Amino acid sequence: MPRILLAEMKQETATFNPARTEYESFVIHRGAEMITALEQTDTELAGALEVFRQHSDFVPVPALSARAVSGGPIRTAGLNRLLEELTEAVRQGGPVDAVCLILHGAMAGEEEMDPEGEALRRIRGIVGDVPLVATLDLHAILTNRMVELADILVPYHTYPHTDHYTTGQRAARRLLQLLAGNVTPEVARIRLPMLVRGDELLTATGLFGQAIRMCQALEAETDGLAAGVLIGNPFTDVPDLRSNVLITTNGNRDLAERTAKQIAAFMWDNRTRFVAPLQSIEDAIDSARTAAGLTVFSDAADATASGAAGDSNAILKALLDPPFEFPALVPIVDAPTASAAHQAGEGSTVTVQLGGTRDPGRFTPVEVTAQVVSLFDGNFRYEDGTEAHGGPTAVLRAGQVDILVTSNPVYVVGRQIFTAHGLDPRDYRVVVVKSPNGFRTHYESIAAAIVPVDAPGSTSANLLSLPFTRCARPAFPLDADVPAPAELT
Ligand SMILES: [Zn+2]
Repeated sequence: MPRILLAEMKQETATFNPARTEYESFVIHRGAEMITALEQTDTELAGALEVFRQHSDFVPVPALSARAVSGGPIRTAGLNRLLEELTEAVRQGGPVDAVCLILHGAMAGEEEMDPEGEALRRIRGIVGDVPLVATLDLHAILTNRMVELADILVPYHTYPHTDHYTTGQRAARRLLQLLAGNVTPEVARIRLPMLVRGDELLTATGLFGQAIRMCQALEAETDGLAAGVLIGNPFTDVPDLRSNVLITTNGNRDLAERTAKQIAAFMWDNRTRFVAPLQSIEDAIDSARTAAGLTVFSDAADATASGAAGDSNAILKALLDPPFEFPALVPIVDAPTASAAHQAGEGSTVTVQLGGTRDPGRFTPVEVTAQVVSLFDGNFRYEDGTEAHGGPTAVLRAGQVDILVTSNPVYVVGRQIFTAHGLDPRDYRVVVVKSPNGFRTHYESIAAAIVPVDAPGSTSANLLSLPFTRCARPAFPLDADVPAPAELT
């Protein structure tokens, strides 16, 4: 029976967010606990386990799972500790016949610009030349190390991401084929000097979906093993940041190269359409006044889902002054305010300085007098069943505006973040989410309108507003006259 090593290391880093991601930011499950904690969730690991159990007798060798909310660069000491613990867990697992690795692909440390490549290097050093398959978020920043050290990389095919589980299944099937010795991966990769944003990335309705369907057609072919377009998280300013087309076939170089070229040309030719149209805060509020129901404001610039700090008060300020006439719901990360609310108690009135506690260069606090409506410990579960830890949490009410104050950054993508704290988004005229697109899965059915708002922040879809210093230039849309990649000329 083959012994299959299982390991996971996931976080998405926004290097423009000054608040560091700490070792303690990671939820870590070790050994067998990794399986019990995640097998009932909608995750890659659960999907992979399902396939392994169905199709082969195998011995799972669970090493370690580390998952953190997106955030700023991972502090060097914390990242080193994490990599050490991962390495040690792999070593303790003993000899294995194959490796199934679950990665995000867009992590960055303060110094280490490719933590996933480093994890792969260490794991390869221990397990040797056994079949190794890794899953990636399609926002992964593909590096040479990742491509060289993994046999097959299996990226997500949906945005918003709804295929964690099936990506795990796809990866597991490929690993079993490798184990059986009946496939020989042949990889074609084309690097595209472009960073993308906006509605056209929605795979169900946008142009990007056409590129993904070409990838899925490749995977459905007899010789197709894996295909994806890795667009990179544009806020992870590291040397390898760009878009990549990555095609893996079973020994068919011609098919791999032809498909990579076809998809890369499609992305490149359409690059000017992969930008995000944004509305000013004032216009967004005006349109919400006259909308037929709920308007969801997408504050992508402060998206904790993309790695921002979550302490923006830009939209909050505009809703408080002049006071918005309808119920509005705004989330914010502000540990001092959550603590003050807990000290004051439910039903009391507090005057607090809200915002700018984590990214003070971008946001200045606003003084708010509000009623403390309710208090929580901040522990709840997201829609996919995984744990969230917001820390001491408070619901404040100022005029018509309800403010959900968490101590730690959490995803504000689904509705659970609100309903777990007694707040139903359907009761409001405006709900602010901290997500560029992922929220659509959870809000399209209840929203009369969705408005991407042009607010300041470290993950702004207005890429020209961000201080890139490390990524390869020239790159679209940061520079004029970017030459096409050599493979396309
Ligand atoms: Zn992603």
